[in-house]
Amino acid sequence: MKKADEKKTADERCAKCGACTAVCPVYRISGKESHTARGRLHLLSRLINPSSTTFGEITSACLLCGACRDVCARKIDTLSPLIKAREHLPTSAQYHYVEKLIARKTLASPFLLRSFAKLRAGLIEHLPKSSGLRMKLAILPDDFLPTSLSFSRHSTTKNINKPKINYFSGCLARYLQRDIITATDFLTEQATGSPLLIPDDQTCCGLASFAAGSRKEAQELARTNIAAFAVNDLPILTSCASCYSHLRSYPELLADNPQWRKRAIEFAARLREFSSFFLEKCFVRSLMYPIKLNSAIPRVFYHDPCHLRFGPEKIIAQPRALLKKILGVPPLEPARGTHCCGQGGLFQLAHGELSRKIFTEALQDFSELSATHIVSTCSGCLLQWQKGVQEAGLNSQTCHLSVLLAKIIYANETA
Ligand code: SF4
Ligand code: SF4
Repeated sequence: MKKADEKKTADERCAKCGACTAVCPVYRISGKESHTARGRLHLLSRLINPSSTTFGEITSACLLCGACRDVCARKIDTLSPLIKAREHLPTSAQYHYVEKLIARKTLASPFLLRSFAKLRAGLIEHLPKSSGLRMKLAILPDDFLPTSLSFSRHSTTKNINKPKINYFSGCLARYLQRDIITATDFLTEQATGSPLLIPDDQTCCGLASFAAGSRKEAQELARTNIAAFAVNDLPILTSCASCYSHLRSYPELLADNPQWRKRAIEFAARLREFSSFFLEKCFVRSLMYPIKLNSAIPRVFYHDPCHLRFGPEKIIAQPRALLKKILGVPPLEPARGTHCCGQGGLFQLAHGELSRKIFTEALQDFSELSATHIVSTCSGCLLQWQKGVQEAGLNSQTCHLSVLLAKIIYANETA
């Protein structure tokens, strides 16, 4: 940033060029300037009443996808002013705040999450498949979830090697879709010869709290996670793209405390993203990939999580290269390119209709591919696709990338 710009607000630095409007999924659907980064920065610099409907609309109708920040030639951090403004939202009763609060509180509490997971199991039996509550609670029909996944261990069955890597599971894998853990553990054993080490004291990464404007809660969760993984200095693998992105931001989140910031920097340096990690291991161990499939090669569509696509590392090529390495063919690509799924964490709770319309565009592009499988590595994206595919009555299977790879490798090894 130029010296003269240092004292300017984000709105004052904005060139009003409109590059951010061209990439904003919300603006593409709503057509409202107040839904773009340019519009939000301008309005937030003038609005002073956080309990107003306008304030609630401006601050909540954003996916926090990061596309605007990524494209901005002036390198304006378009998200921070918005997240800061959300800190004032609790005083406002607008925009389904109660739902958002419940979701945030649930994610922030291991006790509530465990209770929710039990509640979910009970509800599955009683709720009709078409129930809207199923959708809201991310309760999907059993045949959409790989609930019976299990892999018998190989040579390590009797003499398991010491773990070489920790695992941060994220809430979806830990409480709702545990097959992600089973599959990641299987792949890790294949790649390193050792199982995962999963510290029990880990909790929600805190992204939901942070995105909802509850910085204190997010900081508390960050400190809990850093302490949970301080029992060793092994790398930390996470299979969730959103968690990975947020865990990496802990040094910034805890910047106001030098001691915790130092611990957060050390913690962040140990993080490993799912597809990058396994791609590297594939090449290092020279395993027999691509594998010889006993059945037809699955037609796989990989959905890019925004947190990886627009994150600092731009993790776009790695998951594609991993799929190609194992299957022998690259995943299918929609003609119009990658598309946001419209989930955006709490966005889909506060703005269900906008979220649904953004997803419909993604689904239209996807439908042209005749894919048999949809894979991703983001918990939120997976829920959005699982729900959307079910509603659309499509036969494609939707699962975490780890589940598809583990199933294929295991099936071929045991055939
Ligand atoms: S891309 Fe950046 S400079 Fe251009 S309008 Fe958007 S925020 Fe302003
Ligand atoms: S973060 Fe995404 S949804 Fe929000 S303003 Fe930027 S491009 Fe639009």
